Amino acid sequence: MSLKLYNTLTRQEEEFVPVTPGRVGFYLCGPTVYDYFHIGNARPFVVFDVFRRYLRYRGYQVRFVMNLTDIDDKIIKRANELGVPSHEIAQKYTNAFFEDIQKLGVQPADVYPKATEHIADIIHLIEALVKNGTAYFVEGDVYYDVSKFAEYAKLSGKNLDELNAGERVKVDERKDDPLDFALWKAAKPGEPWWESPWGKGRPGWHAECSVMSMKYLGESIDIHAGGIDLIFPHHENEIAQSEAMTGKPFVKYWMHNGFLDIDGEKMSKSLENFSTARDVLEKFSTPAIRVFFLMKHYRGPISFSPEPLQHAVKTAERLNIAYNLLRRRLENVETTVSVNRAELSSEAQSFADLTPKSRENFIAAMDDDFNTPEAMAVVFDFIRETNRWAERASLSPAELAVLAEAKNLLDEWNSFLGVIETRASGVDQARVDGIIKILLDLRQQARAEKNFKLGDEIRHRLKEAGVIIEDSPQGSRWRWE
Ligand SMILES: [Zn+2]
Repeated sequence: MSLKLYNTLTRQEEEFVPVTPGRVGFYLCGPTVYDYFHIGNARPFVVFDVFRRYLRYRGYQVRFVMNLTDIDDKIIKRANELGVPSHEIAQKYTNAFFEDIQKLGVQPADVYPKATEHIADIIHLIEALVKNGTAYFVEGDVYYDVSKFAEYAKLSGKNLDELNAGERVKVDERKDDPLDFALWKAAKPGEPWWESPWGKGRPGWHAECSVMSMKYLGESIDIHAGGIDLIFPHHENEIAQSEAMTGKPFVKYWMHNGFLDIDGEKMSKSLENFSTARDVLEKFSTPAIRVFFLMKHYRGPISFSPEPLQHAVKTAERLNIAYNLLRRRLENVETTVSVNRAELSSEAQSFADLTPKSRENFIAAMDDDFNTPEAMAVVFDFIRETNRWAERASLSPAELAVLAEAKNLLDEWNSFLGVIETRASGVDQARVDGIIKILLDLRQQARAEKNFKLGDEIRHRLKEAGVIIEDSPQGSRWRWE
């Protein structure tokens, strides 16, 4: 089986063949740290986190890079409004970004290069472009000369004449062509600056991503990803800069996720339907938010509205219940026992066959351009069966071994989907279980010694910590409130 993905560059699904066999260089455009990021930007962070973890699961050695744009017009504007240095704004929202992606269950990238820490590298790129005639200097600014790159617009497929005629291109008299873009911007009064061969100034955003990608992943990388809104001009310009410098293909596969709409309207701050990921994380659990993104194919639009959100909440709950049912059922069971088919009824045999079959179906869905909705459908069919078996009154050791295999598969999937809370607030669940069991045993002992006051105290204090004790003739069990 081979993995296929949709390549924006060729506008078709292609078999994934990395530049270097077995290795994947993966770049995702990171945030501009001038504010808390909005829920629309959480989408690429979550879906591409799942994809790179999935690639690792499929045996590739993945190096994942995400840049942090810590100098930019928006940061400067915010800093001037508040009367603080721009690096303070950048630091504050860089910290917030890390907090929020951690809460979203996103695994850290291998490198988070910052623009301000790579000024020399960016100047080096611009110098090379000036030297080979693809960039020109005007009054402290350096522009990229789009007419020098014959393949300009190959990613977006845009028609250059139409673009030039379009009103959306702001005309700047100093540029030779309205499509030419700034590689280096001269510092205006009150703006932060760095020394360069063209005077004091700062780098353009597009130059930053070309440099970070090539520096940390090489001149030709496998996957460069981002939101669909980055295709033009950002990614188009990255290609123009990088390929004009190296003469080599910059990126083999371009991947773009669809928009997130709020109640059908494209989400943007200017429309005042802004909702930060931070706001959303206060109202919804991490698994629910991840399920919400994964229930839709990453390339399609997604609507951020109450109905799909409630559906995601219920779905995440279902997954959690199924997982915990398995976990409890397999408590104190030796799970290393291998399945002995001879000891299974034919019904149990077909359940035993379901695990490898589901694994296969899941991989087939994910290998088809990361079709997460289909992969999730495989998961739901699977947990319907695991629930049925885990709820049985009695299970033979051979059947328990089948159930243990089923739980392993859920763990396997969850290792990159991150849709089941297998740990309580970042703490190892087994340890939490162990600690609460000590308290339950002490309560039991207190009651046996007729010290009911202490027994009640333990119950009361555990409840305050969100732990509910359920007593039954078989003993005491606990659950989260
Ligand atoms: Zn970028």
